[in-house]
Order: sequence, then structure tokens, then C-alpha cells
Amino acid sequence: MRDQLKLLEELQRHDAELIELESLCKALPERVQKVEAAIAALDQLLAQKREELADTESFRKNQEQDKKEAAEQLSRAKAKSSQVRNLKEGNAASRELETTRRQLEQREEEIAKLSQAISEQQGKIAEHETRVSEQRKELAAEQERVAKRISEMQSKLQAAKAHRDELASKLRPDFLKKYSTIRMRRGLAIVAVRDGTCRGCNMRIPPQLYNIIQRGASLEICPNCNRMIYWAKLLDEVSETA
Ligand SMILES: [Zn+2]
Repeated sequence: MRDQLKLLEELQRHDAELIELESLCKALPERVQKVEAAIAALDQLLAQKREELADTESFRKNQEQDKKEAAEQLSRAKAKSSQVRNLKEGNAASRELETTRRQLEQREEEIAKLSQAISEQQGKIAEHETRVSEQRKELAAEQERVAKRISEMQSKLQAAKAHRDELASKLRPDFLKKYSTIRMRRGLAIVAVRDGTCRGCNMRIPPQLYNIIQRGASLEICPNCNRMIYWAKLLDEVSETA
């Protein structure tokens, strides 16, 4: 019976390790997914910035067309002003010259502003492109690391499962069944009783039951939490932490 209790306790520790290994295996691809998500977000941002740049460029193109027209208008006004025949025509011509000159200046200012904006936007795009390419490098490295870790973990997991099967095969089938049922409901299936107290629920064990488990001749259940119990001192040398 002591061997069976020991096996149960060992199986339980082993199962906890298995769960940890499995959750580690699951968490690994999540790291890759995080980097992938960061890249997707950057790509989206980059596409948006490129669209903004295209808008600004097309606006500048319009302004350049307007500037060309303003320049033509100005040269027409200049030609006109050289052909004035009286004061009235002279005044009108110089007003027109002034207006068209101002229009041309405004277009030129606008184009200068747009050119400035375009170069800023191009700078930002280049920055984002650098970041994306850095992230892609990081992703490749992460993928490699994770793939390696996963294959390591999987062989560990396989070995752990094989060991678990071996442990389980040594257990009495009815004990194993009981263990699985309690574990499913309560997490811990088997707990130590120390100083008369069940370590699963921290309640005192009835004295008569305490005497029974000290003999270690049978598998007993805590009347309070319904877990399998054993007297801690019985297994002390195998389980310091129980
Ligand atoms: Zn209990």
C-alpha cells in the first residue's frame, strides 16, 4: 500500500509537470504571433503614410499646373502693359500686373510648403520601412528560436508522457481511476495529512481516521474535501514538500 501511495503522489507531481510543459509549448507560438501582429500593424501604418504622400504629391502637381497658368497670365499682363496708350489703360495694366504677380507668388509659396511636407512624409516612410525590416529580421530569428524550443519541448513532453504511462501502469487500476476522477474535480487528488490536518482543505482529520492512515494499510479519503490522503511521515523521504 505504501508503494501505491508513493506512486499516486509521484503521478500527481508528474502530471503537474506535464501540464506546465504543455502550457509552455502552447505559449511559444504566441511569441511569434505577437511579432507578426506588430509587423502587420506597421505595414498598415506604412500603407497609410504612402497614401498620404500620394495625396500631397497630387496636390502639388495641381499647384504646379496653377503656377504655370499664373506665369502665363503674368507674361500676358506684362505684354499688355507695354502697349498702354493712356493713363487709364496704364493704371488698369499695372493693377493686373500686381494681381497676377501676387497669384504667382502665392502658388510658389504653396508649392514650397507642399515640397516641405512631402520631404517630411518621405522621411517618416523611410523610418517606418527601417522599422519594418528590423521587425522582419527579429521575426525570422524568433521563428527559428521558437521552432527549436518546440522540438526540444516536444521530445521532453514525449519522454514525460512515457514516464507517466509507466507510473500509471504500476498503479492498481481502481486507484488510478479514483485518482483521475478526483483530480478532474479538485485539481489535487492526493494530499498529505500533517499533524492531524489535511493539507488539501486544512481541516482536522477525525482521530480514528488519523490512526488508520498512520498504519498506511489502506487508501483513505478526507471526509471534508474528498481527496485521497496519506500520513505525511509515511512518505516523507520521497516527498519533502507534501
Ligand atoms: Zn481534506
